[in-house]
Amino acid sequence: MSKRDYYEVLGVGKDASPEDIKKAYRKLARQYHPDVNKAPDAEAKFKEAKEAYDVLSDEQKRAQYDRFGHVDPNQGMGGGGFGQDFGGFGDIFDMFFGGGQRRNPNAPQRGNDLQYTLTIEFKEAVFGKKTDIRIPRTETCDTCEGSGAKPGTKPQTCGVCHGSGQQEVVQNTAFGRIVNRRVCSACQGQGKIIKDKCGTCHGSGKVKKQRTINLNIPAGVDDGAQLRVTGEGEAGTRGGPPGDLYVVIRVKPHEFFEREGDDIYCEVPLTFAQAALGDEIEIPTLTEKVKLKIPAGTQTDTYFRLKGKGVPRLRGYGQGDQHVKVVVVTPTNLTDEQKELLREFSKLSGENTNGQQQSLFERMKKAFLGD
Ligand SMILES: [Zn+2]
Ligand SMILES: [Zn+2]
Repeated sequence: MSKRDYYEVLGVGKDASPEDIKKAYRKLARQYHPDVNKAPDAEAKFKEAKEAYDVLSDEQKRAQYDRFGHVDPNQGMGGGGFGQDFGGFGDIFDMFFGGGQRRNPNAPQRGNDLQYTLTIEFKEAVFGKKTDIRIPRTETCDTCEGSGAKPGTKPQTCGVCHGSGQQEVVQNTAFGRIVNRRVCSACQGQGKIIKDKCGTCHGSGKVKKQRTINLNIPAGVDDGAQLRVTGEGEAGTRGGPPGDLYVVIRVKPHEFFEREGDDIYCEVPLTFAQAALGDEIEIPTLTEKVKLKIPAGTQTDTYFRLKGKGVPRLRGYGQGDQHVKVVVVTPTNLTDEQKELLREFSKLSGENTNGQQQSLFERMKKAFLGD
């Protein structure tokens, strides 16, 4: 999946100072923060800006980005990683929107995003795959519909903080009265107290469940790609929307093919005779075997292109090519006849004996290729 240039994301020049980068990011964060902006693409824009800022605000990461561009952030993460969330908007929110000012404890909160790593076979990535994945995630408790209170009862507004979730603590000191705000100790900042807890979720309003998700992996997906499944993350709190599920695709290597973007690479050995005399050989492709004509006098490490035998393009139409590299293998364990013929060949090389060379080639072809 292609990514926008980080400088472009933040709308700054390549020579932007750390101060400029910070300023640009603050502006975007204010504009797109999911708690502020409810547009459907706001969150994606926010994440994009945050990622760009994380890299460009770090001197070392920025230098690396300037040299190498985007590096797959999931590289080397290993398979089976699960449960890492992209939450934590709160910290940034507090940082930019006035720390100390607490959010309403009764406000709906979006559920955390989930990440799941799925390892698939080389050909599954090429042709796509429909599959089910099972993920453990937090869901709203059905018994109490998320309130945490026993059915038939309701959570009650905390009598200590009257629902604000915070307590004012007044201290009389030598310098006068000091008023401190603290998280309400009676309700732990929830603003509500549950007297009769729901038996299923024990008052949390959430339960852990194994959920099966049908996943449609598009043909042409590559290693490191991230699929977003909207609304399949953790449940939200107090009526907030669920988070999203991000599936990171890891592709197993193939024993014969290598992939670079939409193109496939492979290597086939050629005997000395095949390379010198030419031949027609069979090459496996992703779908079938095809014949490839090797012209006489082919050098080792020559590439041949099989047009359209690569990977279907993820976006748009058509597919990449397959590139076949031929490697000439020097013969070993020669028979007496083969040795004799090679000596004869060696003697003839350099001498102008075209007619004799022709018949020698025919005999060599028989001796080396066996027909
Ligand atoms: Zn419950
Ligand atoms: Zn309270």
